[in-house]
Amino acid sequence: GGLGASGVKREVEETYIMVKPDGVQRGLVGEIISRFEKKGFKLTGLKLFQCPKELAEEHYKDLKSRPFFPKLINYITSGPVVCMAWEGVGVVASARKLIGSTDPLQAEPGTRRVSVQTGRNVVHGSDSPENGKREIGLWFKEGDYVSGYQLKHLG
Ligand code: UDP
Ligand code: MG
Repeated sequence: GGLGASGVKREVEETYIMVKPDGVQRGLVGEIISRFEKKGFKLTGLKLFQCPKELAEEHYKDLKSRPFFPKLINYITSGPVVCMAWEGVGVVASARKLIGSTDPLQAEPGTRRVSVQTGRNVVHGSDSPENGKREIGLWFKEGDYVSGYQLKHLG
């Protein structure tokens, strides 16, 4: 990758974004997709999905020892989620910025996690490019993930 205007390394990355059951219930799917489209990121996977318990546990395996883990698994499996994969330069950090802090009290104005609770925080975003790849591999199968196409607006 090259260097951007800020001197920061600019790599094409992939991230796994998921509208959690409360976000689907509250009708926030379109708004979340729109934020990523407006930033010019490329959609590479999209589906509505009822998550089995085993997959939720695998996705959040690093949090297994935390006291909130059982509640988290119940929450994520409580209704359908919308699974997305997005590709672009710096998409992992951009997505985390759009989503806002894990602690909603710390979430910046305009981010998606403002005015929610930590336990019902609407949307997931991968925390590193490595986890982006890992999570896309967990949630998508061959045929429902398509990255080899061009976006005309990006030339
Ligand atoms: N979570 C929770 N209580 C906590 C911390 C996290 O219920 O004290 C839930 C919350 O839904 C969060 C998810 O567990 O989004 C994963 O936690 P993580 O620390 O990875 O936060 P994130 O990466 O989602 O910001
Ligand atoms: Mg996390």
